Amino acid sequence: MMGTASMQAQDLSLFQAALGLSDPWQVTGVEFDADAKRLDLRVDFEKGARLPCPECDRAGLKVHDTEEKTWRHLDFFQHQAYLTARVPRVECPEHKVRLVAVPWARPRSGFTLLFEALVMAMVREMPVATLAGLVGESDMRIWRIVHHYVDLAVDAQNLEGVSRVGIDETSSRRGQDYVTVFADLDERRGVFVVEGRDHETVQAFSLFLETHGGDPPRVSEVCQDMSEAFLKGTLSYLPKAEITFDRYHVKSHLSAAVDEVRREEAKHHKDLLRNTRYMWLKRPANLTGRQRDLLDELLTQPLDTVRAYTLAQQSGSFYELADPDTAEEYLRRWITEVDATDLEPLHKFARMLEDHWLGVIRWHHSRVSNGLLEGLNSLIQAAKRRARGYRSNRNFIAMIYLIVGKLNAGPVTA
Ligand SMILES: [Zn+2]
Repeated sequence: MMGTASMQAQDLSLFQAALGLSDPWQVTGVEFDADAKRLDLRVDFEKGARLPCPECDRAGLKVHDTEEKTWRHLDFFQHQAYLTARVPRVECPEHKVRLVAVPWARPRSGFTLLFEALVMAMVREMPVATLAGLVGESDMRIWRIVHHYVDLAVDAQNLEGVSRVGIDETSSRRGQDYVTVFADLDERRGVFVVEGRDHETVQAFSLFLETHGGDPPRVSEVCQDMSEAFLKGTLSYLPKAEITFDRYHVKSHLSAAVDEVRREEAKHHKDLLRNTRYMWLKRPANLTGRQRDLLDELLTQPLDTVRAYTLAQQSGSFYELADPDTAEEYLRRWITEVDATDLEPLHKFARMLEDHWLGVIRWHHSRVSNGLLEGLNSLIQAAKRRARGYRSNRNFIAMIYLIVGKLNAGPVTA
C-alpha cells in the first residue's frame, strides 16, 4: 500500500513499552499510513493465555472465542492513532461467556483510557465542540466520555461534613430554563446541580445528601435568595437549617428599586437622567473619574433618583456594623426613613425586608453569603457563552460540575 510502512520486532517492543502493556498483551503490528495520517497498532494476547472473568475475577479461564475491537488512542504527532485487538471471551462457570476486560480501555468505550484522560483534561479549558473539532471526533462521542467521568465523580462524593449550604439558580438558556446549584460553603465548591428552581430542587438535594454520607438535619445554615420556592424547600427538607438571605440578592432587589425610581423620573427629566443607569447601580469606587464628576453633579439636584440612591447607599451600613443588635436597630430606622418618603419602589423593598426579617438579620450571626456562588455563576455563564449554549440541560449540568465541583473527573491512568 502506498505510504504504508511496517515495523521490525525491536520497534514493536518500543510501542509495547509506550503503551504500558503487560502479559498476556503484546503489540504484534504497527501500520503507519502517511497519506491518511493514521497509525494503527495491533495488539494481541499470547497464544494459550488464560484470562480472568471480568465479573468475578475467577482466574485461569480458557479463551472461548474473540471479538475484534478498535479504540482511538492518543495521536502520535499529526497522526490519529488506533489500537485494534482481538478481545477474548472467556467462559466462566458462574457468569457464562464474557468479554474480558482490557487494561487500556473501559468496557464499551471506543477510546483508550489515555485518550479519555486527555479529553477530560482539555474539556475544562475549551467548549466540547472546539475540542471535538480539534481531535476529529463528533460532539456526541466527546460528551459521552464527559458524562461517564462526571457521573462517576459526582457519585463518588463524600458529603459527610456538609453543614453550611449555599443555594443559587443559574439560567441554562435565555431566561427560560434554570438549574439550581447547591454549594458546600466550607469546602467552597458546588456539590449538587439539578434542573429547575422550585422547592423540589431542595428535596432532590436532601436525598442526594443522604445517599452520599451526609445528613439533612445536620445542615445548620442555608444561604439563599428570598424566593418562595427555595424558602419552602429549605423549611421542608433541611428542617434544622437557619436561613440567611443572601446579601447580594438583597442588594440587587434594592438596586432594582432605585432603577425603577430612575426610570419613572426619567420620563420627566430626560435631559438629566439620560444614559445614567449604570451610575446609580455601580459602586462609586468602580466609576471612572468622569462618571464620578457627573454623579457628584447629579447628586446636588433635587431628584427622586438622588434620594433613592442616597438611601440605598446608607442601607449598606447594615452589613458593616459589628454588633447584631445595633445593625438590626439601624435597619429599622432606615425603613422608617424610607417610609417617610414617597418613593413607592423603596416602600416595596422595605416591605420585602420586613417579610423576610429574620433571614436578613441572620447574616449578622451566620456571616454566610453566596459570594462564592456569585463567582462560580460568572464562570458558569462565561463557559456557556464560549460554548454558545448547551444542547441539553444534562450537558449544561455536567459542565457546571466540571467548573464548580472541584471533582477528580477522569480515568485513573498509571
Ligand atoms: Zn465470573
